[in-house]
Amino acid sequence: MKIKYSFLKILTGSDLSRRRLPIMQIESGRRGPVLWITACGHGDEVGGMVIIQEIFKKIRKTGLLRGKLFAFPLMNPIGFEMGSRQVSFSMEDLNRSFPGNSSGSLAERIAEKIFTSITATNPTLVIDLHNDWMKSIPYALLDIKPPDHLIPICQKTADYGQSTGFLVVQDTDDLHHTLSRSLIHEGIPALTLEVGESFVVNEKNVDYGVKAILNVLSTLGMIEPVGEMFCHTVTAKYDGQILKFSSAPVSSSSGIIRFLVKPGDILKKDQPVARIYNAFGKLQETLLTQQKGIVLGHADSSVAYPGASIMAFGIL
Ligand SMILES: [Zn+2]
Repeated sequence: MKIKYSFLKILTGSDLSRRRLPIMQIESGRRGPVLWITACGHGDEVGGMVIIQEIFKKIRKTGLLRGKLFAFPLMNPIGFEMGSRQVSFSMEDLNRSFPGNSSGSLAERIAEKIFTSITATNPTLVIDLHNDWMKSIPYALLDIKPPDHLIPICQKTADYGQSTGFLVVQDTDDLHHTLSRSLIHEGIPALTLEVGESFVVNEKNVDYGVKAILNVLSTLGMIEPVGEMFCHTVTAKYDGQILKFSSAPVSSSSGIIRFLVKPGDILKKDQPVARIYNAFGKLQETLLTQQKGIVLGHADSSVAYPGASIMAFGIL
């Protein structure tokens, strides 16, 4: 087994310092699947980096049976150091800049280096780690329903999603230029794992993320089979179904939000999920579910304004 930690240069700073992305790599020495794990593309979403560190620690001990494991634990160091989602010099979203462009904007240049490094290894699967809301359950996010020629790749991605033991949710927004969508368009299965809470490492979410990735490594035959596959408590209730992502209903008034349900709650149609009050405490609005589903998470803020999305649901 060969372990290598190296760097990918992204730019030279104004003080002539070199800015680089750390790369982690374990090669088993036997042919097999190639798995990439990426994290911290959104600089404030710090938990994924720790999930990668823990996975590498584990495999250093127990070994990699076959194939290769690669990781970019910190794709956006500029944002990370500033506590910013964006690449803070240019205030661009790195995860809306793929597959990138070597003569484009700063984020597109960084994206291009990441993207070509990944695709050059002909990966079996890429897992991109994100941390959405403080109050949320972990889930595997699939890109929006693809055009017909990409259905086999998306089916494979969905199967890997199911193997994580997380709830699998398909996006309903057509997000262009994300890492996962750009990889799928290259014919590479790519999955986003949302393992809640940005800014601060939440150890419970780290534990979920590590277990989900060990499930995938075991499914790929890259590690010894994990005794009992991890399955998040809410996943069992949905038994292999893929839910649809929804952030409806949104607020129509301004004021302060009081949440009536919590992440993981299973809801009926027309169930009250939040109430919005004005500064005097007068009820402005009660938000009701539009369909039955499960609460994935709620906003990190209780400030309501017209059009503000306050909660995310997985819809049956
Ligand atoms: Zn993110």
